[in-house]
Amino acid sequence: MREPRCIGVLAWPKISFRLMNDRATDAAHPRVYLETYGCQMNIADSQTVSAVLRRAGYVSADRAEDADVILLNTCAIREHAEERVLGRLGELSRIKHARPEVKIGLLGCMAQHNRAAIMEKAAFLDVVAGPDSYRRLPEMIGRAGDDALIDVRLDRAETYADITPDYGGGVRAYVTAMRGCDKFCAFCVVPYVRGRERSIAPAELMREIGELAGRGVKEVVLLGQTVNAYRFGDADFGALLKMVASIGGIERIRFTSPHPGDMSDSVIEAMATEPKVQPYLHLPIQSGSDRILAAMERGYTVADYLDLVVRLRAAIPAIALSTDIIAGFHGEEDSDFEATMEVMRAVGYDSAFMFKYSVREHTRAFRLGDSVSREEKGRRLSALIALQEEISLARNRATVGREFPVLVEGQARRGEGMMAGKTPQFKTAIFAGVEGVAAGDTVNVRVDSASSHSLMCSIA
Ligand code: SAM
Ligand code: SF4
Repeated sequence: MREPRCIGVLAWPKISFRLMNDRATDAAHPRVYLETYGCQMNIADSQTVSAVLRRAGYVSADRAEDADVILLNTCAIREHAEERVLGRLGELSRIKHARPEVKIGLLGCMAQHNRAAIMEKAAFLDVVAGPDSYRRLPEMIGRAGDDALIDVRLDRAETYADITPDYGGGVRAYVTAMRGCDKFCAFCVVPYVRGRERSIAPAELMREIGELAGRGVKEVVLLGQTVNAYRFGDADFGALLKMVASIGGIERIRFTSPHPGDMSDSVIEAMATEPKVQPYLHLPIQSGSDRILAAMERGYTVADYLDLVVRLRAAIPAIALSTDIIAGFHGEEDSDFEATMEVMRAVGYDSAFMFKYSVREHTRAFRLGDSVSREEKGRRLSALIALQEEISLARNRATVGREFPVLVEGQARRGEGMMAGKTPQFKTAIFAGVEGVAAGDTVNVRVDSASSHSLMCSIA
């Protein structure tokens, strides 16, 4: 689930991931350092990688400098994400130079997307593994020698359903419900790097989520690039939501990212009738211009999208909406951009994730070109962010005086004794901690004041 406080941030977070069976340091347990770039799907994938390596006897290292194996799980969605990884590889080359026996591997979407260019820039890599090759990682690392071992086969059957990921702990867990994407939006590299859509059997998901509930997880976020396209046999995504809601101990259910075209009556009905499914929806629009939406091959018009928003708000009155918007897609004129700003005002998103268009090799839009200059993309992005800040502030201020049940996550990042959690609408609520209130509890809070990113509250 992407957090509202990330508004306008263009780079995905980088996360160092520590494996679960820590602290053995003998040679029989090689130490691995795994760094993750990108979206929640990548974080979930790193948890699967962690489980695969742990089963094979690896333990974690806290720092790349101390590791026997260094792995970067990468993102290829925009050029900027790739540049960050290339910069990091430059740093890692120094470790490889000082300790040639260290194995360095590149995993994930960038490995799949750009391996030739990467091997040219980072010839010292020992392992290059795409998103469907993680099962073979221990073998690949073991065999890596003078030449890099590369495995970027896409596998229509691979779901890792039998591997329980190493969850990081906390009250919320992200569970991959489906992998890949069949939509082929013109700008997007995901179908090429993650392969075709495939869903994980409900029985496997129920087992995994049941185990998480047993470990104290209260909130589950179902993941997929188009998660609401989920289908396994007769079960669609609405049915899956209801099944997950039947699991004792799980109090809240969310999902990301749904595609507007797959927002069926069954999903809306499950959201409206199942109290555990939270009233929050990330509904990427990408552009508010029909001309640009058609060029993006998104499969809906602005009118279709706005009609969906009306149906969602009628069925789920408390719903909060967030979105993704791309600034400066090829051919975007001032009038198209104005139309996007207009739709943002009309919908009144609670938060938004906004990006400069980044041309991606292999996509359908690659051949179209890149007509909007870098400077103009920057100007449009800044205007989008400024508008969204205003809208978010107004929407958050409208909650002042109201009460919300907040699932407590722990200490707030700032403020001595302050605690933080999420409202059902996925807004960050911050309040002074009191004796007896701990992570995993749900407390009722009243909103005292609001910024565009969070709500300052008191326990009601
Ligand atoms: N599947 C989701 C959907 O259809 O809305 C989105 C998943 S995608 C990994 C996350 C977001 O990255 C997209 O919604 C889009 O806004 C953005 N994105 C994808 N390709 C992009 C590109 N080439 N340039 C800029 N932003 C891009
Ligand atoms: Fe990319 Fe479109 Fe698939 Fe989303 S639906 S992952 S934007 S191709």
